[in-house]
Amino acid sequence: MAGVDHAALVGMLDRLKLTAIRDQLDTLLDEAARSDMTLREALAFLVGREIARRDERRIAMASKMAQFPFVRELDGFEFDAQPSLDPRQVRDLAECRWVAHGDTILLLGPPGTGKTHLAVALGREAIRRNYSVQFVTAATLVAMLAKAHADGALDKQLALLSRPKLLIIDELGYLPFEANAAHLFFQLVSRRYERGSILLTSNRSVGEWGEVFGDPVVATAILDRLLHHSTVITIRGDSYRLREKRRSGLLQKAGASIREAETTTS
Ligand code: ADP
Ligand code: MG
Repeated sequence: MAGVDHAALVGMLDRLKLTAIRDQLDTLLDEAARSDMTLREALAFLVGREIARRDERRIAMASKMAQFPFVRELDGFEFDAQPSLDPRQVRDLAECRWVAHGDTILLLGPPGTGKTHLAVALGREAIRRNYSVQFVTAATLVAMLAKAHADGALDKQLALLSRPKLLIIDELGYLPFEANAAHLFFQLVSRRYERGSILLTSNRSVGEWGEVFGDPVVATAILDRLLHHSTVITIRGDSYRLREKRRSGLLQKAGASIREAETTTS
């Protein structure tokens, strides 16, 4: 194999679609030579690069399909700013055993306390572990179901929403549900029950859900299923955004009244 032509080697890598190795061929070979790797080590090093690139692509693609509102990771979450959260519990959830089991997480707390951040970060952890994830706000979800119902396509829509292994439903309770919405929501929860996971965030406590759904009987039936195999995490405390502003001196005196307004609107 003496004197392998560079172009021929690139051609072979191309044919096997080993694009990460192809694109960095010289750098990788130099590095392998410099660090005195055995052939076995060098092969593992090169193949490892290829796998890393594919994983990155897969995660990027799946995150796009999941329709997260923003990119957030657990690493970027300041647990010190939210003492009501147990970092160990959250890191344990990041292992995604609950997704494997089809369990539910309810993430409750006032606005700005990091619920969507955590939901997205856990969603990305699930994607890393090869689970399919879909993110949707409660308002959008209910609008989708209502439209499908009106078009006589509810069953199809429910089937679509049952496909992802993890469905993240964000911001339940910001808007009150319309009359039929609670029934539609119930059908979705029943369909996914014990099959696929739901991660639901809400600014309203579970006790207020009768009001949110506008129907205490349906709310109880929904909660019954959601709570059966579930972890409920309640975040207490201040809005992270306001805290940051207050810290930078933007909101010194205004802080107290805004905090008050926040707790009454949430
Ligand atoms: P919620 O969904 O509870 O209203 P968000 O998750 O949207 O709150 O948080 C608001 C903003 O503050 C986001 O940009 C989020 O990344 C950030 N944030 C909230 N809590 C934290 C935290 N503890 N550490 C780092 N960033 C945070
Ligand atoms: Mg949110």
